[in-house]
Amino acid sequence: MLGLPRALLYYKYGLLWETFLKNLGIDIVTSPPTSKLIVEMGLDVAESEICMPVKIFYGHVKYLIEKQKVDAVFLPRMVAIEKPAYTCPKFLGLPDMIQAAFPEANIISETFNRKKGLRSYYQSYINLAEKLGAKKWHSIKALLKAEKISYEFSKKLHSGDSFSEAINKVKTKKKDSKIINHNRSNIRVGVAAHSYNIYDEYYSLNLLNKLKSMGATYITPDNVPHNIWAKYSNKLPKFLFWTYERELVGSAFYWIEKGMVDGIIYVMSFACGPDSIVQYVLEDEAKKFGIPMLTIVLDEHSAEAGLITRIEAFIDMLERKKR
Ligand code: SF4
Repeated sequence: MLGLPRALLYYKYGLLWETFLKNLGIDIVTSPPTSKLIVEMGLDVAESEICMPVKIFYGHVKYLIEKQKVDAVFLPRMVAIEKPAYTCPKFLGLPDMIQAAFPEANIISETFNRKKGLRSYYQSYINLAEKLGAKKWHSIKALLKAEKISYEFSKKLHSGDSFSEAINKVKTKKKDSKIINHNRSNIRVGVAAHSYNIYDEYYSLNLLNKLKSMGATYITPDNVPHNIWAKYSNKLPKFLFWTYERELVGSAFYWIEKGMVDGIIYVMSFACGPDSIVQYVLEDEAKKFGIPMLTIVLDEHSAEAGLITRIEAFIDMLERKKR
């Protein structure tokens, strides 16, 4: 049985990976959503100075090995998904870091580098399938199915669905409703954050659902198509090296410039190098356009009561400003 950690880039490519592996006929199991136990397992084994999302990733791997008794762990090395940027250095080193922490574990890894062209990127999937014992023609068929479902998922996100709505619709093949979900209420918030920071309900203290329960609607970088965030992130005087930060900055710039949001909530992780740079870039831009911005820093000590108070005060302030 092959285990998939439900952490980090799982929130970007989990659907693609699961569809690919299932269509290869591989018996897969995904770790459960993050819990107190998983966080503790991660803290137990990870280096203290790494960022919290990586610590959580360690916890998921440990859970898969010790509780779900998997034979191997799937752990792709995502180097680059666009030219000329890279992913965060943590993603480049993740398979080695995990192997060092779990020397006995069977880590199934493959390097994905879109800088080398699309052909090489697809070849990585074929190589991965070969490692799992699949034939080339079989892996191409599985990849086509996985790419198709991933494309449908992105289309739903770009049309305004939230992450869970899009996943649900793609998995159940439900039709789109005519309403664009993120324009239903008075207060619209742009939540600028990595997908693993906000869709992990335990780690984010259920931030997105809290916004909904306070009557606000939200939009996230996943709702913004690649060509748009790439264009807006290029407005920075200097090229930003990391793709997922470019996505975050470009999306927020787009919302701000187009007047699509009443405020921005920036969610960052403690000990994240790239996030600490992005924070100042976003604050500058929001200030220039008079858009209020709230920064929330998540770590293992984040508490729900404090978060609720801060979000409530922020939403109240946005409402007063709007009136
Ligand atoms: S971008 Fe930040 S939070 Fe994400 S893996 Fe890199 S250091 Fe960690």
